[in-house]
Amino acid sequence: MANAKHFLTDAEKNRITDAIKIAENNTTGEIRVHIENHCNTATIVRAEAVFNMLNMHQTKNRNGVLIYIAVKDKQFAIVGDEAIDHSTPIDYWTALCNELAVNFKNGNYANGIVAIVEKVGKELHRHFPLLHTNNPDELSNEISFDEN
Ligand code: CA
Repeated sequence: MANAKHFLTDAEKNRITDAIKIAENNTTGEIRVHIENHCNTATIVRAEAVFNMLNMHQTKNRNGVLIYIAVKDKQFAIVGDEAIDHSTPIDYWTALCNELAVNFKNGNYANGIVAIVEKVGKELHRHFPLLHTNNPDELSNEISFDEN
């Protein structure tokens, strides 16, 4: 498995960024994807640390969702801020992570990530539909990488 930064081609990174942009079109919610090599602690603990590091709690409606991926350790976690977390059963995120794990096992990296982004987008739309035309992009749509 290539390093976190290189395991996706530029075209695949763009596809994921575009999927995030589209997923955020109909919701006030925000989605970010973070990819690194290793997760040296409990996956959810590390994912929450990344969530804070990316200042993802700084959204107006507290509905940012982080898709966390440690590529070499094949660890996945999805962390939602308090508003979306209260609206969604915890096993929903776990089920999505399991789906992502299956896709990774089959080598469907970019497609697997895009599929998860689309599903998280639908969940955000369900709980946080867009009620105004004003929908600022509160968190970057670019994938965040860490070389650890
Ligand atoms: Ca965004």
